Amino acid sequence: MRLPLSRSSRKKDREFYMMEALRAPGTHAKVSQKTRRPKRKLILILALCLLLIVTFAAARLHARRSEEKEEDYAFDPLPESETDVSSEEEEKSTVSPDDPRLLMLVNASTPLPEGYEIDPVVLRYGMVVDRLCYDDLQAMMDDCRAAGLKPLICSAYRTVEKQQELYEAKVTEFMLTGLSLAEAEEKAAAVVAYPGTSEHHTGLALDIVDETYQLLEPEQERTAVSRWLTAHAWEYGFIIRYPVEKTRETGIIYEPWHYRYVGRELAKEITESGLCLEEYCSSLAG
Ligand SMILES: [Zn+2]
Repeated sequence: MRLPLSRSSRKKDREFYMMEALRAPGTHAKVSQKTRRPKRKLILILALCLLLIVTFAAARLHARRSEEKEEDYAFDPLPESETDVSSEEEEKSTVSPDDPRLLMLVNASTPLPEGYEIDPVVLRYGMVVDRLCYDDLQAMMDDCRAAGLKPLICSAYRTVEKQQELYEAKVTEFMLTGLSLAEAEEKAAAVVAYPGTSEHHTGLALDIVDETYQLLEPEQERTAVSRWLTAHAWEYGFIIRYPVEKTRETGIIYEPWHYRYVGRELAKEITESGLCLEEYCSSLAG
C-alpha cells in the first residue's frame, strides 16, 4: 500500500524527476571531467526551474486567496452603508410615523398606485430599497450580524416588469404539472403576487433568509436568523408581513422570510396587536 506523500516529499519527487529529465541520456552511469561545465549549466537551469516553481506557487496562492475573498464577498449578505450616516443619526430614527408610505397597502385587491416611484438606495449586488427604510435596515442587519448570525437579503425592490417575469415563470411551472392556464394562474398568484400587486414594488419589503438555509420555505422559520428577526425585527420598524395564521386575510402563503417596513412606532403597535397589515389598516379605517 502506498502511503500518501507529504507536500514536501511530493515537491522533492517533482524536483527529482525534473533533474532526471534534464539529464542527457547515458549520463547516469559515467560522470566524467567533461561533464563538469554542463553540470554548472545544469545547476543554473535547476535554480531557474526552482525559481519558476516558487513564483508559480506564489502566484497560485495569491490567486486562491483572491478567489476566497471574492467568495466571502459574494456570500456576505449585509448591505454596506452607501451613504455617510453619522452614528448619532443612525441611532435615532428620523422616520415620521405619519409618513403615508409606511402603511401603504399593496395586495391582490390593492395594486400599486399608477406611476408610483420609490426613492431608491442601491444596496450591494444592485439590490434596491426605498431610502425610507434604509437606516433602520442597516441597523437591523448590523445588530443581527453582531449577534453572530448571517442574514442574507435575497430580494428587495422589484419593478412591475420583474414581477411579470417571475409570475409568468411560475404559471409555466404549474402548467407543466398538467394544470390548465386558469388553474395555473390561480395557483401562481398565491405564491408569486400578480404584477403590480407585489409589496416588493414599494421598496419597503425585503426577503431575508439565513445564509445557512436559503430556501424560501416554511422551514426557514427554524433558522437562527429567522428566530432573531422574529424577536427583534419590530424594534427596527419591520413586521412579518405574511404570518402563518393570517394566510386567509393576506391572501399570501406563510412567508417567514418576508419583512415589511412600517417604521418603528407602527411596527411595535402592529406586532403587539397581532393583526396583519390588512387588518390593521381596516381597523384604522373602520
Ligand atoms: Zn417577499
